[in-house]
Amino acid sequence: MKLSNDVFLGCECPYDDAKIAMFSAPFDSTTSFRPGARFAGKVIRADSFGIETYSPYLDKDICDLSVADCGELELSFGNAERALDMIESTVSKILNDGKKPLMIGGEHLVTLGAVRAMLKTYPDLCIIHFDAHADLRDDYLGEKLSHASVMRRCFDILGDGRIFQFGIRSGEREEFDFAKKHTIMRKFDFCEFGTHLNALKGKPVYFSLDLDVLDPSVFPGTGTPEPGGVSFKELLECVHQLQDINIVGCDVCELSPPYDPSGISTAAACKIIRELIMIF
Ligand code: MN
Ligand code: MN
Repeated sequence: MKLSNDVFLGCECPYDDAKIAMFSAPFDSTTSFRPGARFAGKVIRADSFGIETYSPYLDKDICDLSVADCGELELSFGNAERALDMIESTVSKILNDGKKPLMIGGEHLVTLGAVRAMLKTYPDLCIIHFDAHADLRDDYLGEKLSHASVMRRCFDILGDGRIFQFGIRSGEREEFDFAKKHTIMRKFDFCEFGTHLNALKGKPVYFSLDLDVLDPSVFPGTGTPEPGGVSFKELLECVHQLQDINIVGCDVCELSPPYDPSGISTAAACKIIRELIMIF
């Protein structure tokens, strides 16, 4: 198989034949601190050339799987609602064509567009959310559509007890109070992850990975780095455990290449995306 760095790591299956359709959503207009996540899709594709297509963890090769990399959406900057509409219609098309969507952010707000589409196909959808931040603010500086509010907006359409959050170590007191009443939140780490997965067995689950859940020592290239995070191996173990449940869609967000001059954050993103594709 010929590899091209225009697509992610050998994901060259024609769209019509693919089981997984990957695309990137280059949007970072609501980033509260350091923008740059809009460049993640291009850099992830280029740097994926540096990792193997074979996973020794899972004994699978990405070249044996049917994955289409559909490239980047052209999103309108500065208009979050229009960008979300476009993401929603893209994910709806992928689902209606009988494929699973994998979205590369972009900032975390892009998840809302995907979840809106997923919910139409899967009315009993649950979300697994890995993040340093609770993302449960009702608004950020008056703006309801913000990456700091994305899980709150998802809650608005999903309701109680359907968002499972892990690794959370930053937010306002109100967000943590909100989580006690309305979400399942594991602060700081992934302890009891397997127990929560048992509760999700048989349900359609959307997995949203904000890469800043990783400690900034392993993942410095992000807009709002938050010390005290998990290790790469801990994240990898949890991603592998997702094999036991029904993941119907997923995203990987918040890599910001301008803050990743060494490329190590991008390498971490590429490797986790490879493993995610294989358990999907
Ligand atoms: Mn987030
Ligand atoms: Mn975050």
